Amino acid sequence: MILQGMLYDEKSSYQKGPALAPPLIREALQSGAMNMYSETGVDIEKVIAMDVGDFGITDYWDIEKITREHLNSSKKVITLGGDHSITFPIIKAYQEHYPSLDIIQFDAHADLYDIYEDDPYSHACPFARIMEHNLAVRLVQVGIRTLNTPQVEQARRFNVEIHQMKDIREVKALRFQNPLYISLDMDVFDPAFAPGVSHHEPGGMSTRQVIDWIQQLDANVVGADIVEYNPNRDFQNMTAFLSAKMLKEIAGKMVISA
Ligand code: MN
Ligand code: MN
Repeated sequence: MILQGMLYDEKSSYQKGPALAPPLIREALQSGAMNMYSETGVDIEKVIAMDVGDFGITDYWDIEKITREHLNSSKKVITLGGDHSITFPIIKAYQEHYPSLDIIQFDAHADLYDIYEDDPYSHACPFARIMEHNLAVRLVQVGIRTLNTPQVEQARRFNVEIHQMKDIREVKALRFQNPLYISLDMDVFDPAFAPGVSHHEPGGMSTRQVIDWIQQLDANVVGADIVEYNPNRDFQNMTAFLSAKMLKEIAGKMVISA
């Protein structure tokens, strides 16, 4: 399992900042404030040992090339973002090793716009691109609370399975047939838990809820990203520490489900 960071927020529509996130997440992880075990008892020191560092990105498609190289050597990659636009090139790289891939996306937003502010690769569009290119067999979205008509239409078009925030009452133990990729947009959390995001969308998930959904997944998790942490908006590094916690829990899930 390889850990990589993408210093990239060129496709953020509202505020920049996520390009600064990866080193701060690592710093929180290694600050001594927490140990290196997931709640499920996995020692993630080995994951950290495979940290290949952060990549300054100027060409968007370099994200795909870099990820492909890392997948060739490891088969499983966790990426620290960066804004959510990075997920499309990452998943493009995954296709070679995982022609049948399922994706679960935790997000306040569906990110299914066909185009946003004239950019088809905006952080508001990655899952439209992924589905158009047939890079995912099944896309499940959890925590969504911003659906509008264009995105409802897109969700229908691509057969996206959406667990909207307004309908979430309890954790669902979702089962996936194909290898699973987890895409965690930090704005899925209520801003009270994660103030360091560009788009505050109140009414979100608690830390406990997101961890429960991940721990309950019945799937072989083969990759993940943690995106949209914006240090410029953070308070007392709360969101850096939450990102580090989620990195531990997701890495733990990848080890256990393998
Ligand atoms: Mn997103
Ligand atoms: Mn979002």
